[in-house]
Amino acid sequence: MRGVAKTPLSVDDYRARVAALIPPTPVTLRPVLDCVGLVLAEDLVSPLSLPPFDNSAMDGYAVRAADVAGAERHAAVALPVPVDIPAGTTDIVPLLPGTAHRIMTGAPVPPGADAIVKVEDTDGGEQRVAVRAPVAPGTHIRLAGEDVTEGDTVLRARTVLGAPQLGLAAAVGWGELPVHRPARVLVLSTGSELVAPGNPLLHGQIYESNSVMLAAAAREIGAETTVLRFVPDDVDAFHATIAEHLGDVDLLVTSGGVSAGAYEVVKDALTGQGVEFSRVAVQPGGPQGCGVFKGLPVVTLPGNPVSAALSFELFLRPALLAAMGHDVIHRRRVLVRSAAELRAPSARRQYRRGRVEGEVVTPVGGPGSHLLASFAASNCLIEVPEDTEVIAEGDLVNVLLIGGAP
Ligand code: AMP
Ligand code: MG
Repeated sequence: MRGVAKTPLSVDDYRARVAALIPPTPVTLRPVLDCVGLVLAEDLVSPLSLPPFDNSAMDGYAVRAADVAGAERHAAVALPVPVDIPAGTTDIVPLLPGTAHRIMTGAPVPPGADAIVKVEDTDGGEQRVAVRAPVAPGTHIRLAGEDVTEGDTVLRARTVLGAPQLGLAAAVGWGELPVHRPARVLVLSTGSELVAPGNPLLHGQIYESNSVMLAAAAREIGAETTVLRFVPDDVDAFHATIAEHLGDVDLLVTSGGVSAGAYEVVKDALTGQGVEFSRVAVQPGGPQGCGVFKGLPVVTLPGNPVSAALSFELFLRPALLAAMGHDVIHRRRVLVRSAAELRAPSARRQYRRGRVEGEVVTPVGGPGSHLLASFAASNCLIEVPEDTEVIAEGDLVNVLLIGGAP
């Protein structure tokens, strides 16, 4: 008796079960640059206007437009230049009528000036300048508050923080931001046949790849990962390994050891310990388990690489994104035509690997859950519904855009 449910759970029901296990991550203050890809937890109000002061949009000369109204290419107006204003100048000397201040881009416009003559329209003089073109009042002046007004909400809570949003937060003076902190995920591979890549391989052994793939998938969505490989198929070793990490992580994700064979270490170790093992009506990835072990949410994925990856994609990715405050938690799903016939089992939802280009998807490789190379060559998952056994060439199918292979 291993507690395997007789009727397989639907993909949607199992997804909801996994989602319910992973609570929202706490809100913390983090340095702006450590917030890439994270979700802002509060509205961000600007304590200042942007630009904070009127400043020059050009390297040139701050003038009164009226003083250079008669300037022409061959009839320059000459003005004394008593003051130089590099960017960063904080003590601003007012401009007297009939003079020009040399000014650099971003430097504050002195009181009394109402326009900037760009350096190209002058002789570039340092003591005196010959201005060769007139300017209208306001020319090349970036006005205070043109971009942001003090008190504006510049970023809303639940915004995903990418480069422009973080740039804006820094521009209005925030050094740290309140964000939903990354979920901390412990990835644990089980299987006595597994060898760390980079080491010699004996006949009968294989390189361990699930932990890399699962941790990478978790990192892609902003989670933090700890990876533990090669826990042998030994229940005591499994428990001892987990015990070291209880309390440090938000979620344990295992791969392998949950199907129907002997030496199913994950199942043997966690059955009756808060983790329920079930079958889900999906292919690949049927045997699944999840629950809470000693206070730690646990999701146990099957060992075949494509099963493990697809299970992460279907169940863990949306749950982790939601826990980290994201509103968009599902992949984009589009309806396209299949370039080939596909056959699928009944009563299970099948996901086949494919490449979508424009309106057409071409299946890549077969349905086998060990076919990692064809998965790596795919950019979508073709969703064959539970009640469909044949997709004919030219039929419409839904695909999930998973990115990846170009
Ligand atoms: P299991 O679910 O443990 O019976 O594993 C199913 C298949 O996936 C077996 O062929 C395993 O060798 C393989 N497998 C399990 N875990 C991994 C892993 N971490 N990396 C690569 N292959 C694995
Ligand atoms: Mg195994």
